[in-house]
Amino acid sequence: MIIPAVSAALLLLANPASAAAPTPGDPGIGDPYYPTYGNGGYTVSHYDLRLKYQPSTDELQGTATLLTTATQDLSRFNLDFALDVSEVLVNGHPARFSATGEQELEITPATPLAKGSNATVVVRYSGVPSKVSRYGFTAWLRTPDGGVAAGEPESAWWWFPSNDHPSDKATFDVSVLVPEGTQAISNGVLTSSSSQLGWTRYNWRENKPQATYLATLAIGRFDVTTQTSSGGLPVINAYSRDLGDNDGSARASVERTGELADWLSGVFGPYPFSALGGYVPNVNTHFALETQTRVFYSPAQFAGGANPSVVVHELAHQWYGDSVSLKRWSDIWLNEGFARYAQWLWSEHEGEGTAQELADYLYATHPADDPFWTVKPGDPGPANQFHPAVYDRGAAAIQALRNAVGDDRFFQILRAWPAEHRYGNATVADFQALAERISGKKLGDLFQTWLYTAAKPAASTAALAKPAAAAKGSVKEPRSWKQIEATNDIHGQDRN
Ligand SMILES: [Zn+2]
Repeated sequence: MIIPAVSAALLLLANPASAAAPTPGDPGIGDPYYPTYGNGGYTVSHYDLRLKYQPSTDELQGTATLLTTATQDLSRFNLDFALDVSEVLVNGHPARFSATGEQELEITPATPLAKGSNATVVVRYSGVPSKVSRYGFTAWLRTPDGGVAAGEPESAWWWFPSNDHPSDKATFDVSVLVPEGTQAISNGVLTSSSSQLGWTRYNWRENKPQATYLATLAIGRFDVTTQTSSGGLPVINAYSRDLGDNDGSARASVERTGELADWLSGVFGPYPFSALGGYVPNVNTHFALETQTRVFYSPAQFAGGANPSVVVHELAHQWYGDSVSLKRWSDIWLNEGFARYAQWLWSEHEGEGTAQELADYLYATHPADDPFWTVKPGDPGPANQFHPAVYDRGAAAIQALRNAVGDDRFFQILRAWPAEHRYGNATVADFQALAERISGKKLGDLFQTWLYTAAKPAASTAALAKPAAAAKGSVKEPRSWKQIEATNDIHGQDRN
């Protein structure tokens, strides 16, 4: 049958059902480890968060404005959020909304959103985040003088609505009103602050794409220090005024941020962001987290004295994890293997044990029947996402790569990755492809052995470089070993 063009057009107009009807966006973005995290049907390019926080009661009020683009014809879409919502506007029009599941906020705009169109979504909300439990925990850390949002993979739900998955990165403006005398710390640059009628507003800006779990907020009584790095970047650090005996060791570590970032720039290439620093709030947790440009450190990380190694770890993530983010949570080796390997390189630099000695010691001290070897760093599963094997075996995998391709090619690969994928997302397979391209070697067997096999590799990393060296005798503990292992509780297991 042949239908003249004019008639076909009329037929379409007369019969809208023949065009695809708008459909709801998926309640998850498709992550194999966390099926409900993130959402389908749209992306976010910018978050504007205007917040008010009262430290004495832990009450948070907010208005979030999200700039979104529909990736399908949308009748409805979800955000991820856990606080109480009072109003949602889409393009200025009230939208219907309801909270479903653990952290889903279902939004039905008055009119469907066409694929490719931009929509401005405004969400007004309030809550007491420390009292809101999801999956049995809250990522909001209450302190005697305020609160902190820091957690991986979950932390955004307790302070702003989002498309909560690292594969959808956006720029952020965070504006926080707090009682005068209290500070509000977030990512990026402090663009301004002003006080009026007993309240102070802090305006923070992160102008490079940022994953939602890397957004952070800390409110409390902080001593804020500012410097300019030798590379000209603003360094802003903040210390709770109640760190007690850990105050000196925290400062003796975190005040070295500029120096250590400069050293890492020599390894990984230019620092990717417009600001840097860290903060140490008065929390009881033990972990540290690579929140973008402004690293979160628990005071416990400094209980044994200064710990530049943990600063190196978290700053390494600014290249490996923050600027180049994983595409799925199963790619976690791209974050933790490389941040641990940076600690090994720092140890090598400090003369406290080379990366090879650390890899040898690791290999020698975990016998073949140690369950340690059953964790596959390239796909550890959600329960083992932050298992020490992801870090240590993950770093040994990188040493194996170094030995297989030689130092020149190896360090070229380390710099090429953050250069080629800057501000984007990538997978372990992408890394293998880049390493193969630069080295001119097939690396499938090496990646399979070190990242994807639930068993101890038959040959040590040293064997890759010098087969004769494989059969050496007892291996001494490198001097840096204990301090590096002491940073093993750095991520996320501190849920109470
Ligand atoms: Zn890490």
